[in-house]
Amino acid sequence: MELLERKIMEEGRVLSTSVLKVDAFINHQIDPVLMDNIGLEFAERFSGSGITKILTLESSGIAPAQMTGLHLQVPVVFARKRKSLTLNDQLYTSEVYSFTKEQSNEIAVSHEFIEAGDHVLILDDFLANGQAALGLLHIVEQAGASLEGIGILIEKAFQEGGNLLKNKGVRVESLARVASLNSGRVQFAEKVGA
Ligand code: 5GP
Repeated sequence: MELLERKIMEEGRVLSTSVLKVDAFINHQIDPVLMDNIGLEFAERFSGSGITKILTLESSGIAPAQMTGLHLQVPVVFARKRKSLTLNDQLYTSEVYSFTKEQSNEIAVSHEFIEAGDHVLILDDFLANGQAALGLLHIVEQAGASLEGIGILIEKAFQEGGNLLKNKGVRVESLARVASLNSGRVQFAEKVGA
């Protein structure tokens, strides 16, 4: 997606050969016009998939997921990273190792918000080693719902997550694919057919 790639080039910061900082438009400050365009793009890509629910992870997945939900006209559920006092015992849970925080978190979704008949689109900001996506997929499986695909804003294609998910037969749609962060530069992967 050209708009997202341009934003990454202009406002992204390469922190190391494996970490890209996008606090200026996704992870701290949010660009609502970009999020609206992202929501529209995902809605178009998954328009024929019969999506009934979007599942993401707090907090950075919420903005793009909400805009996608708006364009697809379906509810958005975000998995919580800590058990809240207001979440009751009826929870689907999964353990997720965080790439950036280097620690494990339990994520949880109430039974109320994902049902066996749901056709779920998982969304997240980044795809690195695939642990967040696998944790969300585990929750979809526990609910007996169907996974229709995974939408990612920025896939770091040099890490293993993309292949891990594709080898499981999951449809992965990434709006920007980064091939390398070497030498402090963002290099995008070649587009198929380009
Ligand atoms: P994974 O679970 O695929 O290893 O990592 C994905 C999660 O880690 C995302 O939810 C995202 O929050 C975080 N993450 C992974 N790589 C990066 C990165 O390069 N930059 C930022 N800002 N977050 C990342």
